Amino acid sequence: MTSALPSPSSTAPTPPRTTTGVAIIGGGPIGLSLAVACRRQQIPFQLIEAGQLGQTISWWAPQTRWFSSNERISIAGVPLQTIDQSKATREQYLTYLRAIAKQYRIAIRAFEQAREFRSSPRGWTVITARNAMRCEIDARAVVLAIGGTDHPRRLGIAGEELPHVDSYLREPHRYFGRRVLIIGGRNSAVEAALRLHHAGAQVAISYRGAALPQASIKYWLWPELDGLLRSGAIESHLGTEAVRITPAAVELRPTGGGTDGSTYQAAADDVLSLIGYEQDKTLFQQAGVTLTEPGGRPRFDEETMETNVAGIYVAGTAVGGTQTSQYKVFLENCHAHITRILAHLQATQPALCAPEATPSDAHEAASLAAQIEARPES
Ligand code: NAP
Repeated sequence: MTSALPSPSSTAPTPPRTTTGVAIIGGGPIGLSLAVACRRQQIPFQLIEAGQLGQTISWWAPQTRWFSSNERISIAGVPLQTIDQSKATREQYLTYLRAIAKQYRIAIRAFEQAREFRSSPRGWTVITARNAMRCEIDARAVVLAIGGTDHPRRLGIAGEELPHVDSYLREPHRYFGRRVLIIGGRNSAVEAALRLHHAGAQVAISYRGAALPQASIKYWLWPELDGLLRSGAIESHLGTEAVRITPAAVELRPTGGGTDGSTYQAAADDVLSLIGYEQDKTLFQQAGVTLTEPGGRPRFDEETMETNVAGIYVAGTAVGGTQTSQYKVFLENCHAHITRILAHLQATQPALCAPEATPSDAHEAASLAAQIEARPES
């Protein structure tokens, strides 16, 4: 193997051509966890991420809390502790990911997009784009840990492109004193409705069902929402679908049978379309991975995580494809993917796991001591 083991503190630029053992595509918790596992087993790897480490989590609204308990979303055997024992926020979790990356000297190739896969004598060549530069990573195996929530689902109605229509909840302060109509009826819509109500927005919800799907809403969110809907503090438009959005209102049509198709206007300064997310299939298609229904899920072997394409693996929530409202694959039930992939690599590519020179802790300590000696005030 010719790949050097870079350190996050290294200022050396990543070369346009790299040879490695495993190319991990996706710098979310599972991609990072796999990188740490490779580091521990001295398997050379490159971690490529189209955005920044934890990109999907980074687009959550500030101070959003995970629904999952800390022990279920902790990775790489590193405990996730919070100051008040509550579930981690977006900020705490991103800090945790950064700390793990630093601890294990994981150099993430951030803002580098995997574009293409070509089979090569060693396995696979991943062609990426970093800024305007084309890069090639020659790897024995590729792991797609690309998640499943790349694009917001679209309503497909007129006015959806207007600037006050958004598919992501932003900083709640932004909505203070504004009339916000939320479209959707599950956890994203409910969480946004509660947060914006408390931030001083005038909130209304439009949901296509006759009643909100209580069983699908987190048990700690439901009682408060129910109370606020009953009191009218949050306005409900149950059994309606949005047919058009204008600068000042959303045109709603009752979905129940027996209506004459007539519509009415619900005033809105901001519209939040929180109707779920879809997976980008481009990389699977590029690699020749078969997609199966429902949700365009990649075909893979449950025991090894290898897809129908030899040497291309899938890990994390990416296995679920585009999930419908009945989510079954979460970070918390994906940790085992890492062990399965490594076991298969060890069985099929023992040369990959041959030790190569790694910077030891002693080396790091010596380097820090030298820095302190050179710049005592740093
Ligand atoms: P979701 O569970 O897929 O729910 C989408 C909602 O939009 C459903 O109510 C659905 O209606 C409705 N919908 C879908 N297509 C529609 C269309 N064309 N027109 C009108 N309505 C439409 O998506 P989500 O609420 O964004 O949740 C996604 C995942 O993120 C879930 O696993 C959730 O638990 C998780 N989440 C986590 C957090 C957190 O950790 N803090 C916060 C929010 C969400 P039906 O009910 O009729 O299907």
